[in-house]
Amino acid sequence: MTKPLYELGETPPLGVVPAQMYATVIRRERFGEPAKAMLTEVVDVPRPGRGEVLVYTMAAGINYNNVWASLGTPLDVISMRQKTLGATEAFHIGGSDGAGVVWAVGPDVRDVKPGDHVITSGGQWDETAPDVRLGVDPMFAKSLTAWGYESNYGSFAQYALVQEHQCHPKPANLSWEDAGSMLVTGATAYRQLTSWAPHDVRPGDVVLIWGGSGGLGSAAIQIVKNRGGIPIAVVSSEERGRWCLELGAKGVINRNEFHHWGRLPDIDDVPAVEAWNAEARRFGKKIWEILGERRSPRIVLEHPGEDTLPTSMMVCDTGGMVVICGGTSGYNGDIDLRYLWMRSKRLQGSHGSNDRENREVIQLMADGRLSSCVTWCGTFDQIGEAHQMLHENRHPMGNMAALVNAVSPGLTTL
Ligand code: NAP
Repeated sequence: MTKPLYELGETPPLGVVPAQMYATVIRRERFGEPAKAMLTEVVDVPRPGRGEVLVYTMAAGINYNNVWASLGTPLDVISMRQKTLGATEAFHIGGSDGAGVVWAVGPDVRDVKPGDHVITSGGQWDETAPDVRLGVDPMFAKSLTAWGYESNYGSFAQYALVQEHQCHPKPANLSWEDAGSMLVTGATAYRQLTSWAPHDVRPGDVVLIWGGSGGLGSAAIQIVKNRGGIPIAVVSSEERGRWCLELGAKGVINRNEFHHWGRLPDIDDVPAVEAWNAEARRFGKKIWEILGERRSPRIVLEHPGEDTLPTSMMVCDTGGMVVICGGTSGYNGDIDLRYLWMRSKRLQGSHGSNDRENREVIQLMADGRLSSCVTWCGTFDQIGEAHQMLHENRHPMGNMAALVNAVSPGLTTL
């Protein structure tokens, strides 16, 4: 007889789906600091519907989006799902990055079967929707949602529920935690740097990377190097700077040496505008010092947002692009529009990654050309704590992962 609940790492026979599972759960009444909002609970295992796959999660990646889910802001993901999707669950199981074993499949699933080792990517969309059928990049699809953030049953549970196309074969040489922690940051950075032609990184391109020692930044430095570009990283400590140099950055800038962060001063406040300009120019000169010539970044990889966007727009080269995927420091990104039009600059939003981009990143990892940079691999019960560290910007450099059903780090098979 099937046991109703298995302990973490106590694997049921392949294909046997227990009634219940352990999950890291957020509830509306606990919204707040991640360490308190995310608690281990026992919940029912979801059943895969048409085109869906149930994955036995071995490891999960820790990402910023579930800091937002814990806080309940800027989006209360639980209420949003109940209102717009008719969801009945009054809880959220996060986790937009994962790796595991296909355990059960719903009707019409063709390309994966129980026992397959897969990496699960974070974008979900309706493959039958007219826009997707007509060939739109799914990242522009009306139905696009982030699995384990906007949708439920992410990788922070013994079983995760995904759409079939989210399952990518796991290269045999990758550990569960490496495989399960890279796409949200690595493939997002890859899209930012390669998919916005003509501003795809080309040999010799200078690329400014904010948060170079973070998840996105660590991947971005490696991707720029792989394509023959020149990465310059911004950090907030010497230790983080050393990390970026080891990954291949040409040089680093410590943002704590500057004081002009945040929103632009009012245009009529001449002394404040002059002070801001002087600091931003001093920052730009640091880039020239690193390069040994007066050359500006053709691409700026943005994600801090409010604190840094004005500087990004100023230091970006004429005809260059600032490509942004987040707003860690705030959502009101000021732009002095004169820099935008007089110098023909481009401000490009970029979100997630499509399946081609995911597969290309997985290939780079399998070939040893892109490291996941996992420096912290915690246990299942530490998922809330990991998000708390992220929230307070006191997390280790690189990427973080948590073991779910995997019993120790470094494992590559069940
Ligand atoms: P992370 O590992 O925490 O790295 C972000 C880095 O940004 C930090 O290490 C920090 O480095 C730097 N930073 C923090 N606050 C800053 C500020 N006020 N000014 C300048 N730099 C600051 O996070 P991540 O995983 O790389 O994600 C970064 C952002 O991208 C998050 O907002 C996340 O939600 C977003 N994101 C979006 C997508 C998408 O698809 N849209 C995907 C992935 C991530 P220093 O302190 O050393 O400067």
